[in-house]
Amino acid sequence: MDNDCLFCRIVAGEIPATVVHETDTTLAFRDIDPKAPVHVLVIPKAHHQDVTAVANADPKAAADVLAAAAAVAEAEGLLADGFRLIFNSGANGGQEVFHVHAHVLGGRPLGPMVS
Ligand code: 5GP
Repeated sequence: MDNDCLFCRIVAGEIPATVVHETDTTLAFRDIDPKAPVHVLVIPKAHHQDVTAVANADPKAAADVLAAAAAVAEAEGLLADGFRLIFNSGANGGQEVFHVHAHVLGGRPLGPMVS
């Protein structure tokens, strides 16, 4: 755990979050500022800065995040109409929290991906 990391502190239960799915290695919780009717963040419990870091250091953890994101999409009823799965990475990618997270977005048509 990184004590300075917001999402590590959510994993530790130090900061509240609305958890919708949990496994031994992952946690999924609702985004505090949702951009769509469904907006869930899926993280590995272990700290990795971004998707490149987790893919290189622990490919199983990366795969676990994908599996958890798929489970969230199904549980949130997104499979019929579709959804978006995003990993922002680094400054140009718009990443603000440097603990890797997948955004699961859905519940309305989302339009073009890049504005
Ligand atoms: P990023 O821009 O790093 O890809 O996305 C970070 C996301 O974390 C944003 O969508 C933001 O709304 C969300 N977020 C920031 N702080 C908190 C928080 O304390 N709790 C929750 N649940 N989400 C947060």
